[in-house]
Amino acid sequence: MRHVALGLLIGGMVLAGCASVGGESAPQPTVRSGGIGWIDAHAHLVGGRADQGPDYWGAVEAALAAMDQAGLRRMVVMAPPQVHGQPALHDSDGFVSALKRHPTRFAFLGGGGSLNVMLQEAAQDTTISDRLRRRFEETAAEILRQGAVGFGEITAHHLSHMAGHPYESVAADHPLLLLLADIAARHDVVIDLHFDLVAQDMNAPEWLASPPNPPLLRANLAAFERLLEHNRNAKIVWAHAGSDMLGHWTVDLSRAFLEKHPNLFMSLRMGPGRAPQNHPLTPARTIKPEWLRLLQDFPDRFVIGGDQFIASPSLRGAGPGLVFSQRAPATRERTRAFLDALPPDLARKIGYGNAIRLYKLKD
Ligand SMILES: [Zn+2]
Repeated sequence: MRHVALGLLIGGMVLAGCASVGGESAPQPTVRSGGIGWIDAHAHLVGGRADQGPDYWGAVEAALAAMDQAGLRRMVVMAPPQVHGQPALHDSDGFVSALKRHPTRFAFLGGGGSLNVMLQEAAQDTTISDRLRRRFEETAAEILRQGAVGFGEITAHHLSHMAGHPYESVAADHPLLLLLADIAARHDVVIDLHFDLVAQDMNAPEWLASPPNPPLLRANLAAFERLLEHNRNAKIVWAHAGSDMLGHWTVDLSRAFLEKHPNLFMSLRMGPGRAPQNHPLTPARTIKPEWLRLLQDFPDRFVIGGDQFIASPSLRGAGPGLVFSQRAPATRERTRAFLDALPPDLARKIGYGNAIRLYKLKD
């Protein structure tokens, strides 16, 4: 049964595997391509250092090979939320030409290496100058002109998990984030937001190195709600649902936020994070009942956002992108297990249809 559900969702490649194992006749694929069919709406390309001529063409080819193997029809790629001075600092303009060779397989968001950098630089400011506002607006407009389907990856709170991986923190209702919400609303595009939630002040857990992470993490939930309320036409995709780091992003909190904030969406990352109690899958890879109820009650508000890092095979070294890229095959495999464990209708929405609608991809 679990194989049939997966076969329905992702079609040909897996059906072939099913048939050879079970010897049963293949169910008809229900996605129009008749072939592969899930979408990862949050992925990253690792091309290398900006000063060494990064290789995004190689990363795109590697992504395609992985996608074909995993039954992944499309990816929405974006630069991670970066800060000034990172050696591999890049934004979507670095990889857009490589992506455009495969317009049916990729879409992209922009701003992780530009808008987010400006935001983090202005973190301490409670007001913004006209000059900064103009520069931010022009950058956002240029990103959309290049074909981005939204802005990302942007962050208001990003924990550092290793050397070279930045700690970033700004008020979620910072004037530049409110401005970005207005721009996104005006163009009807999404904002992909990385936001490590702190429901109340807490000491940083022992596994978080300090510095760069501060010893005390300040509550940031109220400011996030102000961002969500600021412009209800701004669709905000809260990245890494189900892969909570600090233990505060519970199913109950997701439910309350989805009820209260109709412009909030979530992308699901299939790693247990540091708070496995808030992860959808049990160790046996069944869906926890409270998660299934949440997904069934808000079937249009979730997409898959694997946070896969796909590196160019020509890259050598040990930066965070390369370290994360080693986890991508396991992420794809866990994502398939997750989709397979869902009722087929819900799997088709979360695995495919919601992303088509939210990111306005051509079906
Ligand atoms: Zn992220």
